[in-house]
Amino acid sequence: MIDLRSDTVTRPSREMREASAGAEVGDDVYGEDPTVNELERRAADAVGMEAALFVPTGTMGNQIAGRVHTDHGQEVLAERDSHVVKWELAGFAQHAGLQVRMVDGDDRGVVSPGQVRESYVAEDLHRPGTGLLCLENTHNSKGGTAIAKEDVDAVCDEASELGVPVHVDGARLFNAVAALSTPAPELVENADSVMFCLSKGLGAPVGSVFAGSEGLVERGRRERKLFGGGMRQAGVLAAPGLLALENRERLAEDHENARALAESLDGVGGLRVPTPETNIVLLDTDGTGRTAEEFLGVCSDEGVLGVPFDEHVVRFCTHLDVDSEDVEAAVERVSSAL
Ligand SMILES: *Cc1c(COP(=O)(O)O)cnc(C)c1O
Repeated sequence: MIDLRSDTVTRPSREMREASAGAEVGDDVYGEDPTVNELERRAADAVGMEAALFVPTGTMGNQIAGRVHTDHGQEVLAERDSHVVKWELAGFAQHAGLQVRMVDGDDRGVVSPGQVRESYVAEDLHRPGTGLLCLENTHNSKGGTAIAKEDVDAVCDEASELGVPVHVDGARLFNAVAALSTPAPELVENADSVMFCLSKGLGAPVGSVFAGSEGLVERGRRERKLFGGGMRQAGVLAAPGLLALENRERLAEDHENARALAESLDGVGGLRVPTPETNIVLLDTDGTGRTAEEFLGVCSDEGVLGVPFDEHVVRFCTHLDVDSEDVEAAVERVSSAL
């Protein structure tokens, strides 16, 4: 099987398993796990923030952001197709009592400063006030688009003028970094917090990071506890996370593979496949006469897996466990399936 469903399907390497087995550990709820402490230090440095918190999932990292930045009952601004809107069980409403005000980004998921200003709600007798702006980079649903520093900065400046903090859902932040050649600390320098996943393209079995100022991260630590995410000898998870940080440089390979996949499949049997910016390839199946589900059915018979994103949109994702030969094989199999 060539598994292109997601970059979350990677298995931990032998080195990661060995690092886990040999990790120095302690009780992290007492702050005594040296491996977790080291990961949090290095993760904070990687994004240029004061401090970082190791969390089990990206979802928990985003939900912690929702709670630490806002007062219960405020509004949060988020792009309509973003993960926090579509795929987190309305967690902002459930966990932070937030009303989500959705903004239509452009076709790459970019939100403009004008939209932030228009959607901003000032607190008064009748209105709850905007407590947070949440951005997503890379933008998953729009095909892994890497949003440039100038676009991030423009909305951060606008939000800052309005007194609204900014959280970046950077589940795939380092894919954006690789695609844009902008160091992570520069890309998020005007945001107040960022979440990134160790468990996606970076290849760790488990774990994400929430980063921000020391004060924010200290509050985040209490929220993590509230979510039941205070972990004990979590160094066995942080050790592979440290190795995952070393995989940042190789994400460019995934992007090359994604580009090769898209260029080879575009036009095959009526498929329309725009060239991706990072590791996410969106295939429009309309011209093949098949729905996304039907297309995935014939692909799966040939040993290629993807996920449906819409009636006629399929996502293929390249990752650490897929090399250029796998991509060539996937192209042959999909072509013969069609
Ligand atoms: C995967 C993902 C998350 C959530 O990460 P989990 O670890 O799966 O909870 C959040 N945002 C985006 C954009 C993602 O792709």
